[in-house]
Order: sequence, then C-alpha cells, then structure tokens
Amino acid sequence: MQDTLQLTIHKAPHSRIKELDYNNIKFARQYSDHMLLADYKGGEWKNLRIEPYGNISLSPANPAIHYGQSIFEGLKAYKHDDGKISIFRPQANFERMNISAERMVMPAIPEEIFMDGMRELLKVDSQWVPNVEGTALYIRPFMFAIDEFIGVRPSDDFTFMIITSPVGAYYAKPVKVRVETHYTRAVKGGTGYAKTAGNYAASLYPAKLAHKDGYDQLIWTDGQEHKYVEESGTMNIMFVIGDTLVTAPTGDTILNGITRDSVLTLARDWGMNVEVRPLTVDELIDAAKTGKLKEAFGAGTAATIAHVDTIAHEGIDYKLDQSGWEFSEKVLKALNDIRLGRVEDKFGWNYLI
Ligand SMILES: *Cc1c(COP(=O)(O)O)cnc(C)c1O
Repeated sequence: MQDTLQLTIHKAPHSRIKELDYNNIKFARQYSDHMLLADYKGGEWKNLRIEPYGNISLSPANPAIHYGQSIFEGLKAYKHDDGKISIFRPQANFERMNISAERMVMPAIPEEIFMDGMRELLKVDSQWVPNVEGTALYIRPFMFAIDEFIGVRPSDDFTFMIITSPVGAYYAKPVKVRVETHYTRAVKGGTGYAKTAGNYAASLYPAKLAHKDGYDQLIWTDGQEHKYVEESGTMNIMFVIGDTLVTAPTGDTILNGITRDSVLTLARDWGMNVEVRPLTVDELIDAAKTGKLKEAFGAGTAATIAHVDTIAHEGIDYKLDQSGWEFSEKVLKALNDIRLGRVEDKFGWNYLI
C-alpha cells in the first residue's frame, strides 16, 4: 500500500476571474485559475497537486494521442442562493470513471484523488462557480496514457487531471435530431459504455453530415439492425409516450448517464409510469405520427434536459408540440431546485464542499 497522498498547492500569482463576465457565460470558453494533477508511475499514484491552469508537455510518442488510451468524466458544481457550493452526484462519476478505466486498461483512481482532490480544487477556485440562473461550473476529470512508446500495448504510466470551466446553456433552443440508420456510435462488446476519447472522435463525422442538413444532433440506433433507439449525440434520450416515460436500458452500447438516472428516480418518486425497455424506431415514429409522442428530450450533464422539437426519419420531419412539454419542464425545474439547494435534497445528491 502506498502512503497517504499529500496534496501540494501552488497558487497562481494572479487570478483571471476579472475576465469572466458572469452575465454572458458561454459553454466552456474560459477555464478557472487552477487545475489538479496526479501521476501514476511505477504502479502507484503520487504527486497529487494543484497548479495554475496551463499547458502541459507530452512526448510526441504519447499513446493517448496515437491510440486514444484516454477517458474522461463531466459533472457540475452549483452555487446556492446562500453562497454554499455543491457538486451534483460526484460519487456516481467517480464510480463510472473507474468502470471506464477498467475497460481501457487504466488504473483505478483512488477516492482520495478524485473526490478529495476535486473538493480542494473547488475550494481554491470557488469564485469561479457562477451564481447566475442557468449557469454552473463544469468539472472535467480525465486520465490519459503517458508512456513514451508507440507500440500498441497498454501504457504503464498515466496522468489524472481535473480542469473546470464556468458554463451557461449548452443549447439555446430546442434541438432538431435525425435518426441515424447508417453510422454507429457503439456496438455490442465495444466501448460505448465507457467515456473514452475514441467514441467521441468517431461520432464527429456522422454529426457533421447531420449538421449540413440542418439537424443539431443524431439519434443513434443499434449497430446491428439500426432498429432500436439508443442515445442522442452525447446524451441519453428519453420520451413521454402517452402518459409513460420511456427510455432504453443502459448496457454496453448505452452510457449509464447520471442525469438519466436522476430523471428516472424523480419520475418514479412522483408516481409516473416509467418503462425502461428497448424502443424501436418504428414505435417512436408511429407514436409521433399518431400524436402519442408528447415529449422527447436528451438527458446529460452539459444540457441537463435538451428538448427535442423535431425528429427526422427517412426524409420526413416530425414536429413536437411545445405546449405538451409538461414532464420535461417539471423535471428540469426539480433538478435545478435540488442542485441550488432550494428544495429538500431527498436523495442525497448534493455534495457540499
Ligand atoms: C456523458 C454521456 C451521457 C450523459 O451522462 P451524464 O452522466 O448524465 O452526464 C450520455 N451519453 C453519452 C454517450 C455520454 O458520453
């Protein structure tokens, strides 16, 4: 066993906080003053440190660059009306990151690095957590291979880091999505359940084709038959059909989203009908045609809830009537109220720092 990790802090000589316009925060355009780093070398984690945010130096033979041995997480911190700061469900991100790490042959990150390191980083940069409605501090933990070796094999050594960035709304308006029936995000036995770099690189080209045709995102379908609905862009996707909340079960092709889980938990708590089951594209389009499809929305940390107002399939746009968006509005408000400490945190989701 290794000794307890000692955290060292080197503070930035000057804060850049004055450059932040709290009333005009974009999505992840500015980064906070500090970052957290830890090294995994010789089979152990060491050198846990907070340093001024800045560039890092890597060998040109870095395997994360060549082969994508790299994983990440995404979560948010909120400032309550009384000035307290909380992070939303970080323990769930910690656990998921170690699931990704196992799949990508990377070492598990100890809780004292991920959780305690994150808390200390947020204490140092607490001014960067905005308190304007609709904003938050986005937290990006990530880990990547650092061996100087371009042979294809798992790296021995790794770096873990956390950077943070004040963020506003991810999507300014409801999104138009197209059902993807050619390209694939994830396959059975693949890496779809891991937040690993290559999954996102592979999604860029099909997303670009959809953008060219005027759509914001794709609805990914299963890689075998393109028959079942899986996710939308980098979000889970959920529907209200009739009076039932429907979403696909997570597995090796669908990422286990924490927002998705939070939405399901609230819906069940409210006594709503909830069905976690495979949903075919045919059923979805049929529900859209007959008016049974009331709501469609993406669920993920960046946007929380991204309302879908158009679903395209085989060249036809199906429009959703905004006046029927009852559940998604209610769940979005409930999540915001919990995260901002405005209502009871019944499920223990807020981690106060
Ligand atoms: C991160 C992510 C999600 C959403 O997960 P959250 O924990 O809710 O942020 C969904 N799908 C994919 C592919 C993702 O990468």
